[in-house]
Amino acid sequence: MTYVVIDNCLKCRYTDCVVVCPVDCFHASAEMLYIDADECIDCGACVPECPVEAIYPEDELPEDKKEWLPINIKKAPELPVITEKEDALPTAEERKKELGY
Ligand code: SF4
Ligand code: SF4
Repeated sequence: MTYVVIDNCLKCRYTDCVVVCPVDCFHASAEMLYIDADECIDCGACVPECPVEAIYPEDELPEDKKEWLPINIKKAPELPVITEKEDALPTAEERKKELGY
């Protein structure tokens, strides 16, 4: 199994999740993060760190978010690993409100 980042991360990119991952499986684009399914050990440590609930175990993905599993699998290996917290995107606070958090 793996954990998956969904589009709640898009325009937020808080990166609180990356510092707790024991196997450095987060990869980053300029817009959002993705989890490498081959590296994730299903520890769940990242889930409570995310302020916009953008991370799900693959078997608990809401029906309308299932497309994010193949997207994470495809995108993660194409992007650099991120292990240190960075500033959230300038759009993060607005996006967080929009998502209801
Ligand atoms: S903490 Fe959440 S919003 Fe921030 S980068 Fe990780 S998944 Fe994205
Ligand atoms: S579940 Fe664990 S191993 Fe997988 S991305 Fe989150 S912190 Fe990393």
